[in-house]
Amino acid sequence: MKIDIKSMTSKELEAFITENGFQRFRAAQVWSWLSKGVTDFDGMRNIPSDLREFLKTSSYISVANIENKLVSRYDNTVKYLFSFNDGECVEAVVMSYKHGYSICISTQVGCKMGCTFCATGKSGFSRNLNPSEMLAQIESAQKDLNIRISNIVLMGMGEPLDNFDNVVRFLRLVSSDDGLNIGIRHITLSTCGIVPKIYELANQKLGITLSVSLHAPNDEIRRQTMPIAKKYPMNELLKACEDYFRLTGRRVSFEYSMISGINDSDENARELAQRLKHLRCHVNLIPVNTVEGTGYKKSNIERQKSFVNILAEKNITATVRRTLGSDINASCGQLRRKYLNDGGIELGSFQQE
Ligand code: SAH
Ligand code: SF4
Repeated sequence: MKIDIKSMTSKELEAFITENGFQRFRAAQVWSWLSKGVTDFDGMRNIPSDLREFLKTSSYISVANIENKLVSRYDNTVKYLFSFNDGECVEAVVMSYKHGYSICISTQVGCKMGCTFCATGKSGFSRNLNPSEMLAQIESAQKDLNIRISNIVLMGMGEPLDNFDNVVRFLRLVSSDDGLNIGIRHITLSTCGIVPKIYELANQKLGITLSVSLHAPNDEIRRQTMPIAKKYPMNELLKACEDYFRLTGRRVSFEYSMISGINDSDENARELAQRLKHLRCHVNLIPVNTVEGTGYKKSNIERQKSFVNILAEKNITATVRRTLGSDINASCGQLRRKYLNDGGIELGSFQQE
């Protein structure tokens, strides 16, 4: 088994190189090449051939090759399909905002959680991504678009807290000043609510923003769409969110996909407000994206308005996500999904490059 060299920290790389009989300063050179995005050891021109040969036989460099790229006609949103060294594919989306570029990356190939509205969930689980493969998605997009990305959301395919160690290692690598150096406060992790892992994350003292996919005002409705709700009831989940805020000082946000006739009544809004009233939080309402075979439809505009107004009356701040970027952001990971957003913009209306 070859070593995944890009998942190492600079310190680990230094130990790896010196323990194998090469000089310390070579590690810094190799690190610098890896940081520049070199994808094969022969590209490391100032490295002597014996070290290059050693690296080639012992290690590999993770890549995220662009298999497909879709550019929005309406804004600068770009959607990628990346393939890794073993040919597995994931999706990532780059959005441009006034304050900079944001990327939504995947953390697993597929997902085990089986949420009934989600195309990734429906397609099953293939494998976890390594830290290097999360980094490679960002590096490939930066290189392709010739930009510097300033914000990351872990909202693509997969459940980040189900790949905990790799995700935490990625977060440390991506935010380190000898790495991509993206500020930890500019990173958001979205989870379906694996309660013990929320505590573990809080204890890492990373200070990243947590976003919890709630999608229901009570356990009965939540269990219909999210199997994880059978394992962790909502009161435990909301307690974990409260504790996350207490331990990290970071306000939690909630994702709530509005599904017609399932979770979008006025009564549902009132119950949700009641459940969240003790929490310092923000609610993102996203009209559900239609995924073939689910039978779910998004809530109509009147429902959306009524729902958000009831929350506002009860002092819960909520936003209906309407802009293209936010919509794709909220739903990226639905690789086999037909529609990209509630504005009716289909994959077909993206220009293919
Ligand atoms: N597994 C994590 C992160 C990836 S999913 C999580 O579930 O939070 C990213 C977001 O997209 C989640 O809020 C998820 O509930 C939402 N989502 C999945 N399918 C969707 C759909 N069909 N329409 C709208 N949002 C969806
Ligand atoms: Fe997995 Fe998130 Fe999709 Fe649920 S919504 S199946 S947790 S990717």
